[in-house]
Amino acid sequence: MQPIGAHVADDDPIARTTAIGGDAVQFFLTDPQAWLAPPVRDDAAQLVAAGESTRIFIHAPYRINVATTNNRIRVPSRKLLSQHAAAAAAIGANGLIVHGGHVGDGDDAAKGFENWRKLFERESFPVPILIENTAGGENAMARSLEAIKQLWDAVGEFGAGLCLDTCHAHAAGLPLENVVDELMAITGRIDLVHANGSRDEFGSARDRHANFSESLLDPALVVAVVKGSGAPAIVETHPDGQADDIAVIRAGLA
Ligand SMILES: [Zn+2]
Repeated sequence: MQPIGAHVADDDPIARTTAIGGDAVQFFLTDPQAWLAPPVRDDAAQLVAAGESTRIFIHAPYRINVATTNNRIRVPSRKLLSQHAAAAAAIGANGLIVHGGHVGDGDDAAKGFENWRKLFERESFPVPILIENTAGGENAMARSLEAIKQLWDAVGEFGAGLCLDTCHAHAAGLPLENVVDELMAITGRIDLVHANGSRDEFGSARDRHANFSESLLDPALVVAVVKGSGAPAIVETHPDGQADDIAVIRAGLA
C-alpha cells in the first residue's frame, strides 16, 4: 500500500494525521517564510517511533534557493538546507522537500544547474533531498521537462530525489496524462507525489492548490499520477478537505 497523508501543522503532526486517516505526513520545522534553524523538538523520540507506521516528510523553507547566482541568497540557502536536513534526520524523516529554485533575469540557467551540482559535491545529507517541480517562473530549475533534464544531468548521480507536485505540473503546462512516464524517463525515480488539485486552468503558471472537491484539475488524473508513480502521496490542501482528499486517493488506488 502506498502511504497517503497531508501537510499538517507542526504541533502534534501524528495525531493530526491519525485524525484524517493518513499514514504519511509532511510538515515544516519552522515558519516557512523565515530564515530560521529548526529548534530541537521535544517530541523527537515520539516521531522516530511513529515513523514505523507513518511515513514522515519535512518541507524546507520557501526562502531556500540553492540555484541562484546571488551569493547573499545561495550561501545562506545552503546553510539553511543543511540545518533542516539535520533536524529532519533527528526525527527519522524519510525525506526533505526543497523547491528547485531559479536564477535571476538575464542569468545563464547553466549556472543554476551548476550551483545545484556544487551543493551535492560539497555536502552529503543525512536524509534524501527531494527536489520539487515548480509552477511558474521563466528561469526555474525544475519547471519544464527540459529544465528537469538539465537539473538531473547535474544532480542525478548524487542520489537526489524527485517530488512531483501535480498542481505545479498542471500550472507549468505538463500534461498529467503522461507526466509520470516523461519524468521517469529523465530521473528514473519519483520519491513523493504532492497530490494537489488546482484552482486554475492548465498552463496558468499559478500555484493555487485546491481540495479535489473544488479542483479545476481532474482528481482522477491526480490519482492516476499517484498510482503510476508508486510513491507515497501528500495532499497540500485546505485542512477542512484533507480527509476527503485522502479518501479519494485511497479509493482510486484500491
Ligand atoms: Zn508541493
